[in-house]
Amino acid sequence: AKEAGRNQAQYYSRNFHEQIEKRARLETDLSKAIDDDQFILHYQPQVDVDGKRLVGIEALIRWQHPQLGMISPDEFIPIAEESNFINELGRWVIRTACAQFSHWLERFNTAEIHFSVAVNLSAKQLKDKGLIDYCRDCIEHYKIPPKRFELELTESNLVSSLDAVDTLNELAEIGVELALDDFGTGYSSLSHLKAYPFSILKIDKSFVQSAKPGQDECMLKAVCAFAKSLNYKTVAEGIETEQQHKLCAELNIDRLQGYYFGRPSEVDVIEQKWLA
Ligand code: C2E
Ligand code: CA
Ligand code: CA
Ligand code: CA
Repeated sequence: AKEAGRNQAQYYSRNFHEQIEKRARLETDLSKAIDDDQFILHYQPQVDVDGKRLVGIEALIRWQHPQLGMISPDEFIPIAEESNFINELGRWVIRTACAQFSHWLERFNTAEIHFSVAVNLSAKQLKDKGLIDYCRDCIEHYKIPPKRFELELTESNLVSSLDAVDTLNELAEIGVELALDDFGTGYSSLSHLKAYPFSILKIDKSFVQSAKPGQDECMLKAVCAFAKSLNYKTVAEGIETEQQHKLCAELNIDRLQGYYFGRPSEVDVIEQKWLA
């Protein structure tokens, strides 16, 4: 047993060492990855309550590392956030999503645009003094209807930056919509919620996924009722089954998102399935 314990300790320390090496490598490689075109946005559909009509598209970043393969944002966004690189990366995301959106608006000749495009923002980007002008310029340059462009911020991410309210208000003044992501999992005080200019609450997927008829669906119901009573638009994420769709439909959640309707995928796939 002692021997096994030692082996295990060695295993963990080797593993730990490997993790540190990988992290250091990602840190170095990140800085070149924009110029080398290694980032790509995948797009995930959001549908109405019937599950039929496309009402939104969320852009989710991926890193195609030349040696390490596809790396998830959960792995590299925190590294990017530790340096100012997140600002440059965040601008790339905004610019790329706007360019794609304007392409859709032209190509699909949507006289009456019926869907929004959403990007994720790191709370750290709110400290970037040029962010507001950058967003405004992108939206103007690509002729995006501001109401159709959404910025998502996570609740837990916001807690540490209470001065974010001013920046968020300035962003809202551009006319874009602000969504509070992963709602229900952070620690923000509910009484402060109305001080922020959010118009959309994205109910965290844990509420959808723990909902079983008769028992845990109470939590989803409660969060949903709360959001609706304060007049927020509601989005449910992480819908993977027909049953979860049914439940969200009964609760009349405005928009639904999850693998059941479509995984985040490359532009072609979204276009074929939803825009053709
Ligand atoms: P998020 O904004 O909460 O995005 C939802 C995550 O849930 C995505 O993971 C998505 O692929 C995944 N997802 C969607 N439908 C389902 C489902 O039915 N079941 C399950 N289990 N998962 C589902 P992803 O793409 O790996 O992104 C992880 C997180 O990374 C995002 O969470 C977001 O916080 C962050 N992120 C992604 N793109 C960006 C970006 O461009 N900028 C910043 N700052 N953060 C980003
Ligand atoms: Ca999001
Ligand atoms: Ca989320
Ligand atoms: Ca999340």
